[in-house]
Amino acid sequence: MGQDIPAEPAADRNDSPSRDGEASAFCPDHPAPARERILARLFAQTADAALVSDRDNRIIAVNPAFTRLTGYGAAEVMGQDPRLLASGLTSSEEYRALWADLAAGDRWEGEIWDRRKDGSLFPKWMVISVLRDGTGQAEYYVATFTDISERREASNRIAHLATHDALTELPNRFALESQLQHAISTCTRDQRQLAVLLIDLDRFKTINDTLGHHVGDGILIQVARRLQDCVRGSDIVARLGGDEFVVVLVDIEDTMTAAAVAGKIKRNLADIYHVQGHDLYTTPSIGISLLPEDGGDADTLLRNADVAMYHAKNAGRNNHQFFAAHMNEASARRLLMENALRQALSVSNLISAQLSLHFQPQLHLKSGRVISLEALARWDHPQLGSIPPDTFIPIAEETGLIQPLGDWVFWEACRQLRSLKDRGIDDIRVAVNLSAQQLRHEALPSVVRGALACFDLQPSDLELEITESTAMQNPELTIRVLDQLAGLGIILAIDDFGTGYSSLAYLKHLPIQRLKLDRSFVKDIETDTSDAAICSATVALGHNLGLELVAEGVETAAQRDFLAKLGCDVLQGFLYSRPLPVGEILVYLETEHSLGTGGDFVI
Ligand code: C2E
Ligand code: MG
Ligand code: MG
Repeated sequence: MGQDIPAEPAADRNDSPSRDGEASAFCPDHPAPARERILARLFAQTADAALVSDRDNRIIAVNPAFTRLTGYGAAEVMGQDPRLLASGLTSSEEYRALWADLAAGDRWEGEIWDRRKDGSLFPKWMVISVLRDGTGQAEYYVATFTDISERREASNRIAHLATHDALTELPNRFALESQLQHAISTCTRDQRQLAVLLIDLDRFKTINDTLGHHVGDGILIQVARRLQDCVRGSDIVARLGGDEFVVVLVDIEDTMTAAAVAGKIKRNLADIYHVQGHDLYTTPSIGISLLPEDGGDADTLLRNADVAMYHAKNAGRNNHQFFAAHMNEASARRLLMENALRQALSVSNLISAQLSLHFQPQLHLKSGRVISLEALARWDHPQLGSIPPDTFIPIAEETGLIQPLGDWVFWEACRQLRSLKDRGIDDIRVAVNLSAQQLRHEALPSVVRGALACFDLQPSDLELEITESTAMQNPELTIRVLDQLAGLGIILAIDDFGTGYSSLAYLKHLPIQRLKLDRSFVKDIETDTSDAAICSATVALGHNLGLELVAEGVETAAQRDFLAKLGCDVLQGFLYSRPLPVGEILVYLETEHSLGTGGDFVI
């Protein structure tokens, strides 16, 4: 390597002070050849990698440390641009700044990512200086560098330790505060809600004191994992210390979501823990504060969640409490309903019939004939009274009870249609509402086929209604499932059309036959010109797509006449009939059928 040494290393400037004020110097008595030999040895022996390039930035010398670090032998790099080491991780702006520094000040020092010959990347600390000729032109660039991977790893590790809890690897209090503050800013800006759940394990101290800290630690580690399993990746799970954890639900739909997650956490944490041969149990007390109601900054929200957590402890542990009292009432009522619905769906209660179906006719406007009956779920609770579907369907959706409820509605609707057919009511379909979860359940087509076969019904006897917003979620999956259902010969309708955000291009791809105009537009159709315009545009749009138009919520003759003028095909509403139990609907149909199917039929 000795002959690779640059002709005039820093020795020529041996009197000039370096940047930090220190001078490198040779004893003046030493002859030039001796100096060169010494410097050549220094170049070859130094532990730092060294590289020298000429004024065109072509490599003219490297030392053995360079080869050890980069994997490139001297012969491989000679005459090459040092760029052959570039990793792509250092931006062109950074390189531009480096060259600007060299042009201005003869020296640059900093961190750069390089790529070794074997492709591996490493961060290096590099010092470059410029040697100039007599005219001041750059003649050589002398670079020395060291691999700083280990140093970086150590500093990353230190940063991790500073922000994470060593036992559970969750963010610690310090990291939580900054992450929470950031989430608060985003949610406040976007006017979204956020919930802070402070979770304290009940009687954890007893486990620690009786079985020792190792067992306690084992539980804390499992609690951390279980909490992470209860929330989305975008939520925050942190450990405050001891047996206190915090979960931040970022961007929640409504505040009841917080209660639902608290319920999930309670169930998950209450499961058995196997630690060092012990089977152990613990439960959580959870305090909940909400943005913006209970505070607008991290400190206040954490403090109020803490207050709520103490209420949860006082209320007998293993429960959750909101900071604001009225939320607890709403949450308790919701929980009551969830349990009541669960019970109503149990086999014995299905027999005692808290749940039932009512049917509402849909009439063909031109012929006046009833062509379809929409099945609408009804729930009469012995204590809570009659609970409207707008209340219990969302609870069923949130709790997963919509699956058994939906199956029941489906079978019951088919059973009742069969009973009508057996009474001679033949040319009528039944329309069943499907929720998003039912639509996404892979068993749906086989459930449909099974129920039709069981009651000896044809696919054309059945219509399925999905709301516009359900249809617009997850378009690919929706199209796939609807294609399967349409393939069976089932009529498909988009319900509550106009309340969601439909893409027309997408609507075209759905195998649907009907659009049901939402009743909110029908309500003021005669008085509100924009509602009238929406109805008119929807009818035109539907017809252009070859769809039948159904108007919901027709209550007056004037609305009917208006919709008739717009060219609507089918009407449904109190003007014709409220939803009725099957016995009453039978009477209605027998009367209607006995009226015949004359053109100017009006009830
Ligand atoms: P939807 O599917 O749009 O059903 C039509 C709703 O409009 C029914 O409310 C019906 O009683 C009401 N309605 C019909 N005609 C009129 C009228 O002239 N004026 C007024 N003001 N209202 C009228 P209901 O029975 O309370 O059901 C509400 C919603 O609950 C339904 O809206 C549907 O989305 C959902 N739902 C009901 N049963 C089920 C079910 O079995 N499964 C699912 N997934 N959802 C259901
Ligand atoms: Mg409907
Ligand atoms: Mg509707």
